[in-house]
Amino acid sequence: MQRITILGATGSIGASTLDVLARHPERYSVYALSAHARVQELAGQCRRFRPQRAVVGSPEAAAQLAALLHDLPIDIGHGEAALCEIASSPDTDTVMAAIVGAAGLAPTLAAARAGKKVLLANKEALVMSGQLFMDAVREHGATLLPIDSEHNAIFQSLPSHYARDPNAAGVAKVLLTASGGPFLQRTVETLEHVTPEEACKHPNWSMGRKISVDSATMMNKGLEVIEAHWLFGAPADLIEVVIHPQSVIHSMVSYVDGSVLAQLGNPDMRTPIAHALAFPERIASGVAQLDLTQWAALQFHQPDFGRFPCLALAFDALRAGGTAPALLNAANEVAVQAFLDRRIGFRDIDRVVRRTMDASTYGDAASIEAVMAQDALARSAAGCIVDTLARA
Ligand code: NAD
Ligand code: MG
Repeated sequence: MQRITILGATGSIGASTLDVLARHPERYSVYALSAHARVQELAGQCRRFRPQRAVVGSPEAAAQLAALLHDLPIDIGHGEAALCEIASSPDTDTVMAAIVGAAGLAPTLAAARAGKKVLLANKEALVMSGQLFMDAVREHGATLLPIDSEHNAIFQSLPSHYARDPNAAGVAKVLLTASGGPFLQRTVETLEHVTPEEACKHPNWSMGRKISVDSATMMNKGLEVIEAHWLFGAPADLIEVVIHPQSVIHSMVSYVDGSVLAQLGNPDMRTPIAHALAFPERIASGVAQLDLTQWAALQFHQPDFGRFPCLALAFDALRAGGTAPALLNAANEVAVQAFLDRRIGFRDIDRVVRRTMDASTYGDAASIEAVMAQDALARSAAGCIVDTLARA
């Protein structure tokens, strides 16, 4: 029996994870679930999956959850320390890291430091602290499996000896596919006034609001380039983004001998979740088999960096190194929230990120404290830029 903790259980990835777990009660039990504010929904999940522990965002939310679950034997906590506890407890084997944004860094790192099997959806945590996080995984013997569909596809397309001896694997390129999001066909000029609702309407995937906006700006792909760099030890020049609007191929690896290996499937996150949960075995995920005869054509083309400046900014941050990716991530989180709150326009998102990067200095990502300090500085700088744009 694998005992699972889900950080961010009420989110899109959290719900898909529970859906897969429910199909295999003989293999998995739920040790702990967390949610930030959606207490009612978490209470329903707790009734169904009977975890020993639940964690929410505030004392008020904890009291509300306790009242809803008064008849169940469950330990209820709140805040970051409690999240770190359920991620590192000796009573859990596997941690699904599915909190969105920088808030997931501390508990995800705690899971790595406790040597857990970490299923990583929370890409922002890795973008912020890449070297430190990968070092923690190695030092503490944790197992890190990617949930992001592209990285899961790359993982599946790499040989098993890759981690031991990457040079012998003969990788020529890591090809990250990108759908291009909902605005792929629109001219840049028409993007100034798109609404959060339009930006969140992804053509192929159903996801949380923050990652949906990131997909529309293609910052999501930029964060994924940085994620691929850390997960697979791939330098920026080895990583190429390919627009593939159908999202049937989830990413590819091309090799020096001319071979290209890819992973295909219907766009449903339950496939990478089931893959990582059962790895190296395979289990049913509830996802229908891919029927390639239903696809008239699969298309591929190069991204236009001018149309998607966030993608270029992410490559810049990766090449700059140190705390630059943490800076990029924090500025983006602030800008996306301001866009979702209708304070700034869609195109202002890349303006906020660029201006924050231009106005800030960054240093070595030598410690988590240094990363968090950069995160705080970038948030305050980006906040000021948002205020200026919102007033204009
Ligand atoms: P979501 O918004 O649907 O869910 C986020 C979860 O995090 C919720 O359970 C919420 O309660 C919790 N949360 C939010 N803010 C928090 C805070 N400050 N402290 C603690 N918990 C908090 O997001 P999602 O779409 O499920 O994405 C989760 C992560 O997975 C993101 O990092 C995203 O980039 C990544 N991811 C998602 C998908 C997808 O298909 N949804 C695909 C690949 C990667
Ligand atoms: Mg992805």
